Amino acid sequence: MTKKIFLSGIYHETHTFLSQPTTLKDFIINIGDDIIKQNTNNGSPTDGFIEFASKKSWDIISGIQMAARPSGIVDEEAEHFFDTNFFEKLEQHYENIDAIFLILHGAMVSKNHDDFEGDFLEKINHLLKQKNITIPVVAVLDLHANVSDKMIDNSTCVYAYRKNPHSDSRDTAIKAASILSDLFENPNVNQINYQTKYILPPTGVGTANDPMKSVLLEANKIEQSDNDIICINVMAGYSYADIADCGFSLNCCTKGDINVAKNYLVSLANVLEAKIDFAYPKENTLEEALEKIKSLPASSKPILLIEPADNIGGGTPGDATDLLSRLLQSEHEGIVAIINDPNAVKECHKSHVGKEIELKIGAKFDNFHGVPIKLKATIQKLSDGKFTLKNKKSHLASMMGINIDMGLSAVLKNEQLILLLTSVKTPPMDLGQLISHDIKPEDARLIIIKAAVSHKDAYDPIASHSFYIDSQGLCTSNLKRLPFKKIGDKIIALD
Ligand SMILES: [Zn+2]
Repeated sequence: MTKKIFLSGIYHETHTFLSQPTTLKDFIINIGDDIIKQNTNNGSPTDGFIEFASKKSWDIISGIQMAARPSGIVDEEAEHFFDTNFFEKLEQHYENIDAIFLILHGAMVSKNHDDFEGDFLEKINHLLKQKNITIPVVAVLDLHANVSDKMIDNSTCVYAYRKNPHSDSRDTAIKAASILSDLFENPNVNQINYQTKYILPPTGVGTANDPMKSVLLEANKIEQSDNDIICINVMAGYSYADIADCGFSLNCCTKGDINVAKNYLVSLANVLEAKIDFAYPKENTLEEALEKIKSLPASSKPILLIEPADNIGGGTPGDATDLLSRLLQSEHEGIVAIINDPNAVKECHKSHVGKEIELKIGAKFDNFHGVPIKLKATIQKLSDGKFTLKNKKSHLASMMGINIDMGLSAVLKNEQLILLLTSVKTPPMDLGQLISHDIKPEDARLIIIKAAVSHKDAYDPIASHSFYIDSQGLCTSNLKRLPFKKIGDKIIALD
């Protein structure tokens, strides 16, 4: 018999310290068959699931899918819209489906739900129990999910990305779908969640480095050596969420003894403990970095100045000016930067290519990301801001597939700087962003990157060095600067 799978998803990583909410209009929304139409061959996790389902000749019953770029707390209208549409569709189909497959992020906070996904999965579970229906509920999670006990207690199996940058997001959905396929044969599995006391900054959770590298390696060894273990997920967590479940956690799905699984998770938490110093990397001041750069041997390759405090992939507005304005004062040349500033773009589009223009750039979203920079520069390019990923497995594909829309955009140039201005903040995870705007990143001397780890697959191969710079912004790696209230006795920094 053909299996019928109910497919839905909600994807948002919520920065609870940002003042502006995320509203319904910030989401890309697909309902019903549009989920399949919009995702087929777009490189996203949903695309991976569609491919697997087609190979298995599963029937996909499409519910609702919503995705927005990381940003502030999701407002009531948006949470309500998702909830209403999802449960309306599920009510129509629950009698005829064999499983529910969800593509989630796992770090969404909304007006009424600190643990949005936990409450959502609980509601699904209640509904199924009420109707006396036992079917698997399988979910894909981002490695940055803040996983609660509620999420684990109310799902059959969750499966998370293994890589950060997330080059494996599509493959993760395929793997999760293959787990679902196995669950049809053997549905008797259990999950266990294990939270640690650590909240790690995004700069400390790249998977090429410790502690993630060692913990993932050990988790993989366990998965390989114990046939009962279906998966062990190493969850880096997302640190800019002031909620009880914020932080690094581990979870396991097993066919065997749950106590054995728990012991594995405890052993992995010990691996984390042993490597914990690496999870809070120290950053340079700009002055320190520029001193170090002076003594570097000459290279034709660019140097990256990483600005994690305005990590767009972590939710900040992408318009922080602190680092760029101080760099411009240093009289360095050959700088490439990207600032999200819809108003400045509008001004450029009122003018024309080749025209010199004087503008105030950036720092318009809120008061936490510097002050606007007064800039005189020539307009090099005006565009609709659309581009296709150069690397189809870019971290960005996990968020929005391979076709990216930065909104109306403009390129400005003066003797120090080439500046790409966008209208929709777009994380710098793929070189296509610059190349599509005739900016050759390889020719730059200094590139400012508003990211923590997700830029690495794209930019590390073209760079000679990279320096993490401590600057002003709400994605600061120094978590002690943020007014946490709900995290209890969790640890946000080592003394
Ligand atoms: Zn992530």
